[in-house]
Amino acid sequence: MNGVSGAYAHIRKCIYVSCNLGPLMSLLYADWAVDTASRTLRRDWAVAIEGDSIVDAGSKSEIISKYPSYEKFGGRRCVMIPALFNSHTHLPMVLLRSAAEQQPMAEWFEKSVNPRERLLDESLVKLGAKVAAAEFALNGVGGVFDMYFHEDKVVEGAEEVGIRGIFSYGMIDYGNKEKADTELKETLNFYRFIQGRRSPLAKMAVAPHALYTCSPDILKRVGSLSLELDSPVNLHLAERPDEIELVRGTFGIKLSSFAAYLKELNLLGPRLVLAHCTNLSLEDMSIFGRAGAFAALNPTSNLRLGNGLPPANRAKLAKLEFGVGTDGACSNDDSNLLSEAKMLLVSSMVSEGPRLDLWDAVSALTLPTGRFFVRDIGLSRGCLADIAIFEMGLGSNPSGSILGNLTYSTDGVRARHLTVGGKHIVVDGKLVNCEKERLFDEYEQATRKIEDMVDDPD
Ligand SMILES: [Zn+2]
Repeated sequence: MNGVSGAYAHIRKCIYVSCNLGPLMSLLYADWAVDTASRTLRRDWAVAIEGDSIVDAGSKSEIISKYPSYEKFGGRRCVMIPALFNSHTHLPMVLLRSAAEQQPMAEWFEKSVNPRERLLDESLVKLGAKVAAAEFALNGVGGVFDMYFHEDKVVEGAEEVGIRGIFSYGMIDYGNKEKADTELKETLNFYRFIQGRRSPLAKMAVAPHALYTCSPDILKRVGSLSLELDSPVNLHLAERPDEIELVRGTFGIKLSSFAAYLKELNLLGPRLVLAHCTNLSLEDMSIFGRAGAFAALNPTSNLRLGNGLPPANRAKLAKLEFGVGTDGACSNDDSNLLSEAKMLLVSSMVSEGPRLDLWDAVSALTLPTGRFFVRDIGLSRGCLADIAIFEMGLGSNPSGSILGNLTYSTDGVRARHLTVGGKHIVVDGKLVNCEKERLFDEYEQATRKIEDMVDDPD
């Protein structure tokens, strides 16, 4: 720990990282570096950071001697990796954690989720987003792809912790023209909100919730709007086994395949971010892969809600690029993205198609270069300074495979440090921008209030 240890060092670093005294200059080092951008594992690696970028990278001894005055973060048995990115979530659903177990999706939504979500006002949504963002940051997650309502409050909650995100307001119209107009207007308002903030941490996507909740009319308008706003399209797709029949029945349309339908709606292309894809055919996956779309797989959520195995092997075969998400905390219920990589790997062993290797799973944990933020992701010079450092402790095996430890031995691997856009938001395993205990107290009060209101709606 750079010769200084204990509480004093933590306080000193927190003061240092909280003060905006010119560009932040710091140095991160670790025994191993897992660079998902180049799929390279390096020993004794260090990066020098100025502002929001990595300005130099190389062996630990070289970089430390080159930048002697830079504040140093790292330690023994540590692994450096680009900050993890949760490709699909609904942050405020952390308020509904433990509200619904062992229920299949339709029952889960109708009996447990819907009655509670109706109670969430702006302040609860913001608190939920902040709590979830804090949990993710403490697990090395520096960014999320989110969809919810009161999404401006989700942005505020996440920013108070310091993580970045692509945020989206989830639109639902069920074929009601008036509702479609209102939903699109809400998306435009949200776009203006994001533009007005000018935050390097917040981008937006246009988000029709799913094909069974959004009419062909609103979906067509989503296509033009995403082009106009230059935004990705965030869509739940083929999550449920009965989804194609559901779409046909709800909107009375002929539907030969999801890919053909989205092509007809002018939505097929690299802007598409498809959450789940659990019940998507190999043919459709290949079409999405060729179109440059991105799939966000959610293994725990898919299994927990009885929707099926995550389709990672099929995505690999179809050359459909994929990341991994937790989904909301009402269908996971953890905020540990590393454990989602384990779920991907174990389910890959019992799925058809080419098995995932460890790099496939670890790479799915981080933001792919060139997508969404248009900045290089990685651990070399010029890359965005979004970096996590994990420490291996009891429960891991530092002499074994490092990628194996990061995915399979999540009990023994703890996030020690997280830098987002060059700012340190977790230092020595502690949040820099908020107090964990106070946040948990507020969370406990809020969840109790929700349960009291659900039990006694009058
Ligand atoms: Zn979702």
